[in-house]
Amino acid sequence: MINIFTVDLEDWKHIHYLNPEDEVPDRLEENTGLILGVLQDYDVKATFFIVGEVVEKHPSLIRSIIQHGHEIGFHTYHHTPLWNHSREELRREIRKFRKLMKESFSTEFYGFRAPLFSLNRKTSWAIKVLEEEGFLYDSSIFPAWNPVYGEPGAPRTPYFIKSQDITKRSHHGMIELPLLTYRFLTFNIPAAGGIYLRFLPEKIISKAIEKFNTLDNPAVIYIHPREVDPSPPKLKLPKFKEKLFTYKTEETLKKIENLFKKFHFTSAINYVRGWNIG
Ligand SMILES: [Zn+2]
Repeated sequence: MINIFTVDLEDWKHIHYLNPEDEVPDRLEENTGLILGVLQDYDVKATFFIVGEVVEKHPSLIRSIIQHGHEIGFHTYHHTPLWNHSREELRREIRKFRKLMKESFSTEFYGFRAPLFSLNRKTSWAIKVLEEEGFLYDSSIFPAWNPVYGEPGAPRTPYFIKSQDITKRSHHGMIELPLLTYRFLTFNIPAAGGIYLRFLPEKIISKAIEKFNTLDNPAVIYIHPREVDPSPPKLKLPKFKEKLFTYKTEETLKKIENLFKKFHFTSAINYVRGWNIG
């Protein structure tokens, strides 16, 4: 059974609770390099959901990701959550990114991830825009509760999604690849990566993947380059809670390696292209 490994390509400065005026060191190349190294060691192809503005600043990094055979996806142009976007802005950004990727790297993209997993019932209009712009899949649904995001009533495994009701399985259309959750009693616990990968015991993540794979479903995992940073910058963080949740990056790469040792991963597009819908 294959699973899906994704990287949201953004830097420390894209953390939503930082003050945009703050000076934040750029650590993207170093940290992404570490992830690319592990992917290469285990021969894993991944999907990189890219924030458009990053491409302008780091063209050689993007070239290296493409040359390694990884898939490019879109993560908005400036890391704007869908609840702060309009349809037309999103459409404009998609077209701008398409032009940039085509002209600079002769590359197409077929997948989208909303910053902060901000696809919910209120922002479901985005699915229509993505469909109209030719996307094959979305991977923004987090079917669990979180103080900032989440759509606990949505399906936990891949399904056809429609903007009329993003919590129902449709019969055709774009494919949704929800982020991995672990069912415990009546709750869906997020287990997909990011902060959960850094803080949850590896056993729980592995168990969640095993449970998914037993029923022939892929686990969708995500990580940010900053989450593997061996020397995170000292940031001005507003609240204790955020101080607590922002760091703890030293074991992330090891955890990813352990997952690669135990499970088979590939990019989202490889999964989507091989999915035979019964
Ligand atoms: Zn993001």
